Amino acid sequence: MTLSQAEIVEHLHRLLPAEQIDTDPDTLRLRSIDNFRKLQYIFDRFVGPFPAAVVYPNSTEEVATLLAFADEQGVNVVARTGGTATEGGLETPVEHSIVVDGGRMNRILSIDAYNMQATVQCGVPLQVLEDEARKVGLTTGHSPQSKPVAHLGGLTATRSIGQFSTLYGGIEDMIVGCEVVFPGGEVCRIKNVPRRAAGPDIRHIVIGNEGALCYITEVTVKLFPYHPENHTFLGWTVKTMKEGFEVLREVMVAGFKPSVARLYDYEDGQLHFSHFVAPDDCIVLFMAEGNAGIVKATADGIAEIAARHPGCVPVDPAHLAEWFYDLTWGPDKITREDERIRTTRNVNRTTEISADWSTINDIYDAVLPRIRAEIRGITLLGGHSSHSYINGTNMYFNYFYDIDCEPEQENEEYYFPIIDIICEETLKRGGSIVHHHGIGKARSKWVREEYGTSFHMLETLKHAFDPNGVMNMGTIIPRS
Ligand SMILES: Cc1cc2nc3c(=O)[nH]c(=O)nc-3n(C[C@H](O)[C@H](O)[C@H](O)COP(=O)(O)OP(=O)(O)OC[C@H]3O[C@@H](n4cnc5c(N)ncnc54)[C@H](O)[C@@H]3O)c2cc1C
Repeated sequence: MTLSQAEIVEHLHRLLPAEQIDTDPDTLRLRSIDNFRKLQYIFDRFVGPFPAAVVYPNSTEEVATLLAFADEQGVNVVARTGGTATEGGLETPVEHSIVVDGGRMNRILSIDAYNMQATVQCGVPLQVLEDEARKVGLTTGHSPQSKPVAHLGGLTATRSIGQFSTLYGGIEDMIVGCEVVFPGGEVCRIKNVPRRAAGPDIRHIVIGNEGALCYITEVTVKLFPYHPENHTFLGWTVKTMKEGFEVLREVMVAGFKPSVARLYDYEDGQLHFSHFVAPDDCIVLFMAEGNAGIVKATADGIAEIAARHPGCVPVDPAHLAEWFYDLTWGPDKITREDERIRTTRNVNRTTEISADWSTINDIYDAVLPRIRAEIRGITLLGGHSSHSYINGTNMYFNYFYDIDCEPEQENEEYYFPIIDIICEETLKRGGSIVHHHGIGKARSKWVREEYGTSFHMLETLKHAFDPNGVMNMGTIIPRS
């Protein structure tokens, strides 16, 4: 039996104090979407479905109580922390969901400089943890562009990655242990140890679950020494993406660990580097950080590799430092971008995929002409590689288009057809359709093809941990 909004709210008032329950219609509208349908917010054209309430637990016990209620009554739960999701993970796809916002669970529980790990509640903004770590000469090593706004719960739930990933890894390399709540209210803690071989690594049921399996209440992440005085930048222009990918590949295969390793194509590069890079050049760039000796060896090794490529023309490292320190997106930049879209109806979207070195350039070469040919209104189309590994890299497609439809139709008219092209061309060549933003609801229609025969494992996990299907319905696995 489906509960009405009034019945859900009445139940919630039995579980939490009134000041932790928000049913204001404006809040419910705002909390029905995320950046995936951001035009609804930018143009104030919300279409719903809207949640019954947004609730703000203060403790793990309160999360457990809420999840037990939701599971028993079949109420869809959308977990939320920083609210920076881009793939529809925060969208409330059915009437009368509850949004469980962990933003008030925002205490740093410990910064342990001896064991090099920090424990925080899910609602701690990454920037706050990073600032505290730096006060004692440490860093989390995690720096997604959403660092000022995203919280540790959401960052873990989306399997996020930051700009220094080549050295520190993605969040999956940083999470030591965690505490989570499963539907029904079961609280589980995964203890903090450097490594263990006691069966499967169950942290990976939590990392990247996108609120579709469990609610993350607490995480412990690694810390690293912070040496900003040694930051070193290097970069070269190249004529083609193919050559740029080859430079990146050689650096990774040789075993160097720059913190940043990026390659921008012509159009995407012009958004950042037009004051020193010609419009028909790509740019490959690196940053090395850490201990002074390691930084020098890394920079020298990368320079030797670039010197073997006659097409590599060095750029002034000062330009790269200037660009780099303005790369994150705080609330001001996000508001300015929303305003730009409102006034111009020119929308900027991104989609990130990954593939091995043999195929990444083919995917890049296949996607761009198709988008140009099949999608109307494109005003800028390009991309960059921002996270590299010994066996391959990612591609972050960046595209702008003028819309000629109602704003709330933008996904169907433009965004979905572009995502379809990118997913088709990536899957055809054996790549992954999601490198770091999560599947959300935006790319869930492709999840069976993404997983192939291993979809059985994913589906079994979902049924086992969320038998009543109340955790973020339609996220990762589409609604049937
Ligand atoms: C300007 C901008 C720049 C970005 N740059 C990057 C980048 O560099 N790298 C990157 O990886 N991503 C990036 N993103 C995407 C986004 O910031 C990340 O996905 C981030 O990890 C989301 O964290 P959040 O706290 O905002 O989570 P939310 O947006 O609140 O939630 C994201 C997802 O996680 C789930 N979730 C949230 N909290 C919990 C919880 N406590 N337990 C279980 N599930 C939960 C939600 O249901 C949702 O599916 C960017 C986004 C923006 C808008």
